Amino acid sequence: LYGKDLTLKYQPQVDLQQNRITGFEALLRWDCPSVGAISPSRFIPVAEETGLIFPLGEWVLETACAQAVAWQKAGMPPLRMAVNISARQFARPDFIDMVERILKETGLDPGCLEIELTESTVMEHIQEAIATLTDLKVRNINLAIDDFGTGFSSLVYLKNFPFDRIKIAQEFVRDISLDPGDKAIIEAIIAMSRTLNLHIIAEGVEKLEQLTFLKAQKCHEVQGYYFGKPAPAAMISKAFATGALT
Ligand code: C2E
Ligand code: CA
Repeated sequence: LYGKDLTLKYQPQVDLQQNRITGFEALLRWDCPSVGAISPSRFIPVAEETGLIFPLGEWVLETACAQAVAWQKAGMPPLRMAVNISARQFARPDFIDMVERILKETGLDPGCLEIELTESTVMEHIQEAIATLTDLKVRNINLAIDDFGTGFSSLVYLKNFPFDRIKIAQEFVRDISLDPGDKAIIEAIIAMSRTLNLHIIAEGVEKLEQLTFLKAQKCHEVQGYYFGKPAPAAMISKAFATGALT
């Protein structure tokens, strides 16, 4: 199953000032032989319910870290590898041990790993979450808050968490040109992140006008179809080798 029906794709994250790729987000794909492709938004919640998320999440982390090391060995610059972690996986008492073991086994520098967590994941058990996040931060692992703006988005809590980066949810980026309210929300998130010394990445950037607006707002990084869809590792290696990606 793993590596065959279940694979990872990688989507570039682009720094707007340096105009270069600084990292990739690993995204899980399930190509079911009988039904075809099934979206992770559909099967991840089921995997969470059934507990399948534990072996699955471990495989994702292992595979993404090993891929990051393979890319570095192939001569690509040391890029960040962002991995989505589900709430149940994060809440496990042995979560840190698993991360540590995988970093050791793959040889990935912890500074090249980024863990993406949604607001609801960290808000569920706040004290435990702060302890786990601090444990990760002490190990120099990067922490990103995913889909920001869709949950509680509490400033008060956010300042207590050791996050490095905020990912602005795609739904705000999507309607930038149609909805002045979404523009205002993005402006507010960026202003707030700056005060808290957080790095900002906007998701779901598909069009030039979205990019232009985000650049004007001094958003640090973007991710989206405009720069690249999630792609198989081999395709990314090839693009780097031929100079198509920098
Ligand atoms: P997410 O973490 O918010 O991931 C971003 C989603 O937006 C991805 O959908 C990505 O393919 C899509 N996307 C990226 N750029 C664009 C764009 O420009 N336009 C549009 N319309 N979409 C864009 P995907 O891959 O279907 O993943 C859906 C969700 O499933 C993810 O949302 C994440 O919550 C979850 N997921 C995916 N892989 C994993 C995984 O390995 N572990 C866990 N726990 N969750 C995962
Ligand atoms: Ca994510």
